[in-house]
Amino acid sequence: SAILDVQHITKSYPEGNGTLTVVKDINFSIPRGSTCAILGPSGSGKTTLLGLCAGLDRPSDGEVLLDGTQLSKLDEDGRARVRNEVVGFVFQSFQLIPTLTALENVMVPLELRGQRNVRDEAVELLRRVGLGERLTHYPTQLSGGEQQRVALARAFINKPKILFADEPTGNLDAETGQMVIQNLFALNANSGTTLVLVTHDLELANRAQRIIRLKAGVVVSDEPTIGND
Ligand code: ADP
Ligand code: ADP
Repeated sequence: SAILDVQHITKSYPEGNGTLTVVKDINFSIPRGSTCAILGPSGSGKTTLLGLCAGLDRPSDGEVLLDGTQLSKLDEDGRARVRNEVVGFVFQSFQLIPTLTALENVMVPLELRGQRNVRDEAVELLRRVGLGERLTHYPTQLSGGEQQRVALARAFINKPKILFADEPTGNLDAETGQMVIQNLFALNANSGTTLVLVTHDLELANRAQRIIRLKAGVVVSDEPTIGND
């Protein structure tokens, strides 16, 4: 079965006397191990949709199945458990813990699971993203691109079945962004993790096998990218 199945999901917020619908009756299914970009202009509902897919937020209507589990059947704790076991995240704003070194940041998810002897695994992942020489640096001592690569290593350390990346290069210059994207797709290819990427950047979206285009909360197209069909 698909790793992610989105069935008629809608998300509305109260606004004045009525409601503002930011995601409208969206349907798609993401095969395991595939890469998909959700492309759309600012305000089209991409981040909201990603939050719904990842179980961070609940739809007003419809169903999300993550690794076969119906999220609507779960309470907040249940969704947190599915997120911990199935999902990895990368955000535009890196979200590293400022008081921890690069290595410690990457080890956190494993330590939270009560795993021991996690250092070697974290070192190996940091090496793979080219940060083998930055293990004891703190986030403020790293460039934006380096911080995002630490965030990538942290996102992959739990071996998630699906990784959600929300504008992962949004705070980076073009060149640095390219490096992060190389690392992201290399980790995806090597680990078999499904990748769902949210972006307004067509060039970045074209790196994925498939593009789902959003406009004003509605899917306007859903197609394989050139060279990937
Ligand atoms: P994108 O990621 O494509 O920029 P978002 O999902 O962030 O789009 O936002 C889509 C729309 O939903 C925007 O108009 C935004 O203002 C609105 N929105 C997002 N979150 C909330 C919220 N918690 N309450 C009300 N409106 C929201
Ligand atoms: P962006 O910078 O791409 O707008 P954010 O970093 O603001 O994205 O995060 C997007 C959504 O994810 C928000 O709803 C936020 O509450 C949630 N979020 C942010 N950081 C975490 C985290 N570490 N774990 C779980 N959810 C998070």
